[in-house]
Amino acid sequence: MERAHQLFLGFALGLTAAWLALPAAPAIAKAPMVASQAPGFYRMSLGGIEITALLDGTHTFPVAAVMQAPPEAPGPVRRLLTQARPGEVEARLAAEALEMPLEGSINAFLINTGDRLVLIDSGAGDLYGVCCGKLRANMEAAGYRPEDVDDVLLTHLHADHVGGLMRDGKPVFPTATIHVSRTDEDYWLNPDNETAAPAFLHPMFEGARQVLKPYLDAGRVKPFDYGPEVLPGITPMATPGHTPGHSSYAVRAGDETFIVWGDIVHVAPIQFPDPAITVTYDNNGDLAEAQRGKLFAHTARHMIWVGAAHISFPGIGHIALRDGKFGWLPTNYTTEFAAQAPGGR
Ligand SMILES: [Zn+2]
Repeated sequence: MERAHQLFLGFALGLTAAWLALPAAPAIAKAPMVASQAPGFYRMSLGGIEITALLDGTHTFPVAAVMQAPPEAPGPVRRLLTQARPGEVEARLAAEALEMPLEGSINAFLINTGDRLVLIDSGAGDLYGVCCGKLRANMEAAGYRPEDVDDVLLTHLHADHVGGLMRDGKPVFPTATIHVSRTDEDYWLNPDNETAAPAFLHPMFEGARQVLKPYLDAGRVKPFDYGPEVLPGITPMATPGHTPGHSSYAVRAGDETFIVWGDIVHVAPIQFPDPAITVTYDNNGDLAEAQRGKLFAHTARHMIWVGAAHISFPGIGHIALRDGKFGWLPTNYTTEFAAQAPGGR
């Protein structure tokens, strides 16, 4: 036995030496790369109702081509941030371990009040190409059917907010009433405004017309004027600037408030430190800047929950004000609904 053991040991050592001398064999994968993300929904409770953030998709946000610096001297001229302040875009992104090209989220928010299902914004649908249009699938993954949506509230009529009303030429929400501020509806559906607007905005007019048509034909578009609640517990807030009738929505439940603010922020690492930075898509940069400052201050002071269309999914969090600078505090991930932090009023 002893001899056999020695022979075996010698054989094993010989094999090991031979193996060490061999060139490295290609690694055999333990499991294939998956290269896709989890379904894009995130749920939270708020004073007895449920809010589900729904991702429509992410796309490369053209930071260098659209972010604008405020004028250096009094006057209306805003220049591209990359030209007015070279290096600043890269530095602000690097401060948050980011770089260009930067992926941006397109988020929408589904409010389940118990007796009503209300969607705020609808994503881009077919209008942004293959990146997006995933809202319906994510809504179904979250346990809801588009047929059950009673109302769609739109923050504004840009393609990435209104496009999801249609897929493959058919209305996605067959029984829903669409609510939008009268100002935005009037602006985007008036061909004279398209003629007067810069060419890069023309597809936005075409997109809004196209996706709203079946709902308009069915008499299911209900423009609102600002004032009291548009639906029980939901108050529209006039936040013009990005578009003429851009609206945010304050959702109240119990003692809590959650503001869905639409396009108040496009690139968080750039616009939180400097709310004066605007985008070329803003209809009125000065007004957009003013709304951003106002909403930052209001939501920070009262610790109100915010749902943001373009802050990294799920785009839910609070606003901090520290040493005179605003910042984004993303929600803490939890599966315990009762443990979520309260939102102020
Ligand atoms: Zn947008």
